[in-house]
Amino acid sequence: MLGVQLLGNEKVTVKEYPEPILTYKNDLLIQVKASGLCGSEMHGYRSPTPHTSNGGHEVAGEVIDAGRSTKFEVGDRVGVHAVWGCGDCRWCGVGKYTYCNNRTGRDLGTHVERFAAPDHVCLKLPEDIPFDVGVLLTGDGCGVPYHVSQRLNTKGGDFVCVLGAGPVGLGNTIVQSFLGAEVIAIDINDYRLSLAKAAGAAHTINSKDTDPLAAITEITHGMLVDKCIEAAGRPETLKLAFTLVGVAGIIMCVGEQGDLPISPSRDLIRKDITLMGSWFYHYSEYPAMLDLYRRGLPIGRMITDHFPLVEAQTAFSKFANGQAGKVMLEP
Ligand SMILES: [Zn+2]
Ligand SMILES: [Zn+2]
Repeated sequence: MLGVQLLGNEKVTVKEYPEPILTYKNDLLIQVKASGLCGSEMHGYRSPTPHTSNGGHEVAGEVIDAGRSTKFEVGDRVGVHAVWGCGDCRWCGVGKYTYCNNRTGRDLGTHVERFAAPDHVCLKLPEDIPFDVGVLLTGDGCGVPYHVSQRLNTKGGDFVCVLGAGPVGLGNTIVQSFLGAEVIAIDINDYRLSLAKAAGAAHTINSKDTDPLAAITEITHGMLVDKCIEAAGRPETLKLAFTLVGVAGIIMCVGEQGDLPISPSRDLIRKDITLMGSWFYHYSEYPAMLDLYRRGLPIGRMITDHFPLVEAQTAFSKFANGQAGKVMLEP
């Protein structure tokens, strides 16, 4: 079967791989219908060393062999949760795999025609959910911003600043706007800001030519924002978040990054600021996300491109150059 291999130095190839086999007792064999590119794959894409496979992990498809699974059958449409809990502990029992101490996982490499995954990490996609939207609903695209929204408890009329308008920022813009927030999106890429506008942002700021603090002071009549979502994963944007959030506000870290000095007195204490983190989403949150989609959440707006698997190089280049929202590879 065909699949993508990351060759390093921003090169990919599509090559022949052995057919996957069902290894564990509850494995399913899944025919890929859509596999999304994720910002987390860019490290491997840009690194000088070749990868034996690819970093694909946001995927939807159809079960073509249900093995010994008692939960799924051939023909079921599924998406896959990218964080695999052990399936047996207290947290896994309530569908909170990200809290499991014994997380497992396989380097799925889903930019392929077929792959195998255990049934307890698969989520059934109803017939009314297109496969590309299914990738978002069971993966980072909707999962990450939905989980953020649960942690932030956004109310109608809140001013929410989203720092970074890549796929994670776009997803947060869509979810926060849908929940009634007045979203201010900040980036340095005009194309991505145009996507944020289409995704529901009430205001967009290119911080290369506009001072974000001055602009946000004007938009919020000096109150600054209620919530600030850091979705760029950069020290300068997290520092900026501390200046843009108003008293008693919340800063939500979503973009992964390393150590950063903060001043508890200046950054947190004197303004009653809450600093939070949010990682991925809970398996158990999927029904609520489906419900939100059916009530009109326009999450599909973050998808800008669909490419056949064989055009993986074009897809990766476009995504890596910041000229795309969410990109789907379709075998
Ligand atoms: Zn991802
Ligand atoms: Zn567990």
